Amino acid sequence: MKVMAPMEEQLRFRDPALAKKVADHIESLAPSYTVKFCHVCGTHEWTITHHGLRALLPETVEVIAGPGCPVCILPAADIDEAIFLALEGVTVATYGDVIRVPASKTSLQEAKASGGDVRIVYGVEDAVKMAKKEPNRDFVFFAIGFETTAPSTAVEVLNKPPENLSFLVSHRLIPPAMELLLGVEGLQINGFIAPGHVSTIIGVKAYEMFPKVYHMPTVVAGFEPLDVLFAISMLLKQIRDGEALLENEYPHCVKWDGNVKAQQLIEKVFKVVDERWRGLGTIPSSALVLREEFVSYDARKKYDIKIEGSRDLLPGCLCHLVIVGKINPPECPLFMKACTPQTPKGACMVSNEGTCRIWAKHKITE
Ligand code: SF4
Repeated sequence: MKVMAPMEEQLRFRDPALAKKVADHIESLAPSYTVKFCHVCGTHEWTITHHGLRALLPETVEVIAGPGCPVCILPAADIDEAIFLALEGVTVATYGDVIRVPASKTSLQEAKASGGDVRIVYGVEDAVKMAKKEPNRDFVFFAIGFETTAPSTAVEVLNKPPENLSFLVSHRLIPPAMELLLGVEGLQINGFIAPGHVSTIIGVKAYEMFPKVYHMPTVVAGFEPLDVLFAISMLLKQIRDGEALLENEYPHCVKWDGNVKAQQLIEKVFKVVDERWRGLGTIPSSALVLREEFVSYDARKKYDIKIEGSRDLLPGCLCHLVIVGKINPPECPLFMKACTPQTPKGACMVSNEGTCRIWAKHKITE
């Protein structure tokens, strides 16, 4: 068997001739009525927009972006907590995208400009190194992200981090958010494109309930243009055949059981709780908090954090509708007027995984 080099493999999944064939196949499978497929991943939105995949789809096949950007769904209250700590003299370490996200009144970037010590890190291990190097300073790692980043947080918690480091945990879980989408009035999704990255951790099995309970076709997909087109054709075939199956388009990376070791780490360190998502309210069993035995590392228990009157949306911002795919970014009156990548008014315009930012970067205005 010929083993392909990574670049060769990538190019294969971008082959225009093959893409045209799959697009023709999609055309042949498309029903006469409109079907709507929802992905839940900022990287999928990037691939779809960057490669102009929507233009290849028949009019009756729509692909919308769900809550798949970890920065976009971060409640303002959680960022308010990080800002409070930074302004109280605690060093807050977190991922780069987070610091520009508007919270209730300000952002971590503005807190830094006001004298707060806010540091950008590539991962939790950087925060651990900093805390060890400066033992007389208090550090908080603002731990955000989905099932993909939670295992690395768990590893460092289990490694007994230095006493001057604690964790402001804001990890969220994808399947409960997908379940929420099925109850959003007027959304009427006909199939899910499940996220490749998250699925490498939780496995295909994590989506079993969607076909079984909700009769919802679901395909786990990779991130190259052809991955997405294949996934769309697989969903359309299920619909044509009157089936609701759970299929895996990304078997070279995603296994049925996922990464069991990573799942065990998450299970050991965190418990699952109901929690708020930005603009979406509380989603049952959708977040992780540290278990009792790790309470000494919980920044919310360690510090007397006082915040009040948090608000997720600045006036006019429609991120709550963009996040669930109910509207496209240009339908927000602030899009590319008051809200631009340089002057974000909502979380969806900050991260490279945010739908508004992706559309803005690609100059899609209608
Ligand atoms: S354009 Fe800006 S304000 Fe409007 S929904 Fe997007 S991020 Fe929010």
